[in-house]
This record gives sequence, structure tokens and C-alpha cells, in this order.
Amino acid sequence: MNEIDKKKLIVTYAQSFNSLNLSPLRSGNISIRHKQKSKDGLLITPSGKRYESIREKDIVFVDMSGKNYHKSNFPSSEFNFHLDLYKEKHCNAIIHCHSKYSLILSCFRKNIPSFHYMIALAGGNDIACAKYELFGTKDLSNSIIKAMINRKACLLSNHGQITIGNNIHEAFELAQEVEFLCECYYKCILIGQPEVISKNEMQKVLDKINNYKKN
Ligand code: 13P
Ligand code: ZN
Repeated sequence: MNEIDKKKLIVTYAQSFNSLNLSPLRSGNISIRHKQKSKDGLLITPSGKRYESIREKDIVFVDMSGKNYHKSNFPSSEFNFHLDLYKEKHCNAIIHCHSKYSLILSCFRKNIPSFHYMIALAGGNDIACAKYELFGTKDLSNSIIKAMINRKACLLSNHGQITIGNNIHEAFELAQEVEFLCECYYKCILIGQPEVISKNEMQKVLDKINNYKKN
């Protein structure tokens, strides 16, 4: 896919943060890995721009050393963790959002256990919550990298959630799944402590989900 098409996709998904109620106003950020000819880096949403006014010209290219070549826009303040995730994980797209239920649960700084088998979509038998650090810092990036070991999603303490994918469609769908799971877990714990699926049983889910065909 060329640079223009990637920018178009980022704009479409950034606008749907608002329309799908996944991240309000200017919160969250989206990137796609971009490696073409002499360019090696990522395309990312600009910092602090309202999603309804985002256009392709606003999307910023940042190279793998963190250098921004855009004339007028700053990249997302979270470009550190986007860069580090591309260096550490096998992925081509990243979604970070302040979706309501992920944000609420992240304030308890606890991992989400295997209360439902679909937790396996995040890659293991829980969704970890990355240790609290100030937004936009290398420290936050380091804590995210730890929480993402063997995972495709994590919560960020007192903040929200992150997902990765082979492409932006996958990463975005996973963010929606994580939000739905967070909403359900929130409602479960209003009633009491739900039973969790054992490690052994979750391993069977993980094996099965890897061969699950999507149409
Ligand atoms: P940016 O607008 O700089 O991407 O910041 C939004 C955000 O969610 C910070 O964590
Ligand atoms: Zn954020």
C-alpha cells in the first residue's frame, strides 16, 4: 500500500474514534508502519487535533530514530511507544484509545483475567495493565512493552488501551473487542467476582482461536 492510501486509512479510522464512541474528541492516536524506498518509519496522527477536522495532509511521517519531517504538525505525543512497539513486536498498525470501559478498568491498575474465552484475542490468558507513567514519555513506552510481552493488547494504568495488528483493520477491530470485554467485565464485577477459565482451558482456547477462520 502506498503512502496516500495509508494516510486515507488513518483518517478514516481516526474519524471513527468519535463516530463509534471509541475515543472522545482528540484523545488516542493511530499509526501505520511505513517502509518505502528510502523511508523507514511510521505514519501517525498529529498531536492534539480534533478528529472531525483531521485530513490526510495532517498525518505525520516519523522515521525510526524519531525524526519528524512534517512542515507544520507535531506527531502524536505518544510516538515513542508507537516506535518502540514496531521495533519490539511483529506488527504493522497500532491503535491507542481512551475507550470508556477500558479507561474505567485501567484506573484499578489490574490485569483483566480470563472471565470470558475471548480474552484470548489479546494473545494470552489475561489482558495486562501497564504500570502508570506520564503520557508521552519513554517510561510509559517501557511499561507498555513489558505489558505487551506475548500480547496484542494491553491497558494503560489510569489512561486507556492499546492494540496492535498485522494491519489497521485488525488492530482497530481488536480495540473494539477489548472495549466490549472491558464493558462486560465491569458489569460482571458489579454483581460479584466472576469465575475465571483455568490456564489449562485457556490454552485450548488459544490453540483453537489461532486456527479460527474469519469470513
Ligand atoms: P496526542 O493527541 O498527542 O496523540 O495525545 C492523545 C493521547 O491519547 C495521549 O495519550
Ligand atoms: Zn492517551
